[in-house]
Amino acid sequence: MITSDQAQPFNYAVGLYGSKFFQELKDNRRIVGSKCHKCGKVYVPPRKVCGGCFCENTEFVEVGPQGTIGTYTIVRYTFIDPETGKQKPVPYGYGFIRFDGADTLFQHFVELSDDRPLKIGARVEPVFADVMKGTIRDILYFRIID
Ligand SMILES: [Zn+2]
Repeated sequence: MITSDQAQPFNYAVGLYGSKFFQELKDNRRIVGSKCHKCGKVYVPPRKVCGGCFCENTEFVEVGPQGTIGTYTIVRYTFIDPETGKQKPVPYGYGFIRFDGADTLFQHFVELSDDRPLKIGARVEPVFADVMKGTIRDILYFRIID
């Protein structure tokens, strides 16, 4: 067997609404969503069109930064992390978080702690990177706060 390292760098556009989300995250450590002017639903990350009303979301609103675990999983299966090219350490928590003021669930890593169990309804807050780069990794993970 022959093994070697290969770099496969790529970029993709996140669009106007994704750019607003990452710019606010990077510059102000703020979480923003988009709000439907018809039904009031707040999407995080922001979406251009309301899935229920099919109308354009034209308003950006700040949410969180705290939120509640809507559901979660604990990953115990090892795999090659596409971000690092190395085996991802396990176990780790992965949650679907509803930011305060939002109506949708936002996916990210959640800490595993012996003191504060990961559970549906647990209150969480983001832990930000020291250096913000305008990527999803500006949020390192979510910390359980209750
Ligand atoms: Zn709507």
